Amino acid sequence: MVKVSRIEQNSIADELGILPGTELLTVNGRPLADFLDWEFLTADEELVIEARQPDGEQIVFELERLDGEPLGISLQPPTVRRCANRCEFCFIEGLPPGLRKPLYIRDDDYRLSFAYGNFATLSNVKERDIERILEYRLSPLYVSVHATNHEARKVLLNNQRVPDIKAQLMRLAAGGIQFHCQMVVVPGLNDAEVLEESLTDLWNMGDAVLSAAVVPVGLTQFSHLYTGKKMDRDTALEILERVERWGDRAQGERGETWVFGSDELYMLGQRELPGVDHYGEFAQIENGVGAVTSLRMRVAAGLERVSRRDGQRIGVLTGSAMAPLMAPLLDKLSAASGAHFELIVAENSLFGPTITTAGLLVGKDIVAALGRRHDLDIALIPAETINEDGVFLDDFTLEAVRQSLPMPIFPSYDFIDVLASEAIGVAA
Ligand code: SF4
Repeated sequence: MVKVSRIEQNSIADELGILPGTELLTVNGRPLADFLDWEFLTADEELVIEARQPDGEQIVFELERLDGEPLGISLQPPTVRRCANRCEFCFIEGLPPGLRKPLYIRDDDYRLSFAYGNFATLSNVKERDIERILEYRLSPLYVSVHATNHEARKVLLNNQRVPDIKAQLMRLAAGGIQFHCQMVVVPGLNDAEVLEESLTDLWNMGDAVLSAAVVPVGLTQFSHLYTGKKMDRDTALEILERVERWGDRAQGERGETWVFGSDELYMLGQRELPGVDHYGEFAQIENGVGAVTSLRMRVAAGLERVSRRDGQRIGVLTGSAMAPLMAPLLDKLSAASGAHFELIVAENSLFGPTITTAGLLVGKDIVAALGRRHDLDIALIPAETINEDGVFLDDFTLEAVRQSLPMPIFPSYDFIDVLASEAIGVAA
C-alpha cells in the first residue's frame, strides 16, 4: 500500500487538495505496489492518479507538470521486506534482549539497497522483483554476496533455498545493473579458496561489479547462532594478503583498487591502513572501508579552521578499536587549538567487550566514562552513537546523558565539525 504522509504547502499536490492519509492506487493506469512504483511512474509530465481519500472516497487527479516540478508528496515509510536467512553471524541475532522493537527487524530489501545503500542478499527476490530491478534500472545495488560458491553460501546464510547469487548477478548485469558487493568472512567457511573463487567470479563480471569489500565477521556476546572459528590476527593477515593481491591486479588492469579490506581487517591484522589514493571514491565508507583514512584526511584539511582553546581540557570518547589510531590525530588537534586532548576509552556494557566499535557505545557507557570527570571543560562523543531522534541504542536520550554529566558534550563525526563550530564556544 502506498499512502501519503505529508503534503508540502503550495505544491502541486496541495493545490489539487490531496490530503495526508490518501491511498495512492494507480499512476497512468499502472497499479502501485510501493514507493518504487510511485517514484518511477510519476517521472512522466502528464499524470492520471487514482487515489482513495482518507474518508474512503475514490478520486482521480489529472495533472501536468513542467520540468520535473516536484509534486510535494511524501509517502509513509514502506513495509520492509524481511530476511529469509538465518546467518550464524547475523548482528541482529547478536543483539542483547530488551532493546526497542525496530532494532530486531531483520530486513533484506533490494528496494532499500537501491534507495539507501543497505546491503541485501537478494535471497528473497522473486521473478517479478528481478523484472522491476531491470525495468526501473535500480543501479547500483549493494549486495551481500559472502560467497559466490552456491554450497558455501547456503551454509553461510543458513538457508538451503537461497538462489544462486552468481546467476542472479549475471542476469542483472546483462541488463545493465551494477553492484557494490561485500563478503563477510567467517574463518574456515568463506576465506581461503572460497574467497579466491568469489573474487575471481566477481572480477569476471567486469564493470558490473563496481567494488568489493571484505569484512571480518563481527560477533557480540549474544551471537548465539555462531559455530564458526574465531577471527584472529593470522587469519586477518592471510585475508589481507589475498585482498591486496587482487587490489594490485585491479590497479594494474583497471586503474582502481576495486577490492578493499575493511578498516577492521587492518586493525585485526595490526597493519597500517592504506592512504587516500587506495580508496578512490570511498564507495564503501559506510561499510567501514576507508573510514579511518577519511577521518585522517578530514582532520588534516580542517585544522586551520579549529579555533584556539588554549589551556582547555577536552575529553575524546572512543571504543578500544580506534584508540591506538587516535594519538597522532589528537596531537594535531592539540597543536592547532592549544587545548589538551585526553583520549577516554569506554567499554561496551550492552554488547560486551568483543564489540569495540565507537559507534556502538551506548548512553550508559558515556555516563560511566564521563560522569566523574569534573576536570574536563568539554567532551566529544562519537556522533554515530545516536540516531536522528537523539536516542542511543539503550534508549538513553542525548539530553538525559547531558544532564547527568558535569561537562558539556558534543556528538562529533570528525572533531573538526565541533571544534570549528561556533556552538562549542557558547556551550563551553
Ligand atoms: S541476511 Fe543474514 S545477517 Fe542479514 S539480516 Fe538476514 S540473517 Fe541477519
